Amino acid sequence: MSDFAITPWEIPSLPVAGDSRRFPVRRIFCVGRNYAAHTREMGADPAREPPFFFMKPAHAIVADGGEVPFPLATADLHHEVEMVVALSRGGTAIAPEAAESHIFGYAVGIDLTRRDVQAIAKQRSWPWEAAKGFDHGAPCGALRTVAEIGHPKRGRITLDVDGTRRQEGDLAQMIWSVPEIIGHLSRLFTLQPGDLIFTGTPAGVGPVVAGNRLKGQVEGLADLTVTVTAAA
Ligand code: MN
Repeated sequence: MSDFAITPWEIPSLPVAGDSRRFPVRRIFCVGRNYAAHTREMGADPAREPPFFFMKPAHAIVADGGEVPFPLATADLHHEVEMVVALSRGGTAIAPEAAESHIFGYAVGIDLTRRDVQAIAKQRSWPWEAAKGFDHGAPCGALRTVAEIGHPKRGRITLDVDGTRRQEGDLAQMIWSVPEIIGHLSRLFTLQPGDLIFTGTPAGVGPVVAGNRLKGQVEGLADLTVTVTAAA
């Protein structure tokens, strides 16, 4: 006899490099515009904005090697490669100086975006969920732990589509550092173990089509490769 009125679902999770155990994912927070060059390519001023956040559902994760069915309701699906932070401890109003002790590890993610839907949302002051929070919209690779690699502060972050480089930047170009992001975010939400934070994308975002193979890389982290397939 189950305690649930309908069949409960599996907890979404990520593999951990060098560990047979998985990391359970609670929520996915994302930082908007955290690299100056990308902020400019989206038509905003990087000097004048505090960090802002949006969310994706945990079940939007696609694992390394997985497939992303081209979503309905868009003709302009964009890639945004990002470093992802995984939290092992939560908290409210976490001081940036203490933030790193809350981190379990790091991964490579792709913040897939219905850019055309986002453009309409911006124009009409609508929320971003339909542009950002759709199924399969959060590919994320295996985590490497802080115990293994420490806290990456610099290093190349790139995205290739079918072997052609589309995005390239360096973690050192982030406007808000990971501790600062955790500081800001934890004043808006009580952070919890299992939360992921996508930390923003460098310049070079652009469209993908069915058949494309996307490879995201951050120096020192596990590569992430996913394939976009025809609409489900
Ligand atoms: Mn993004």
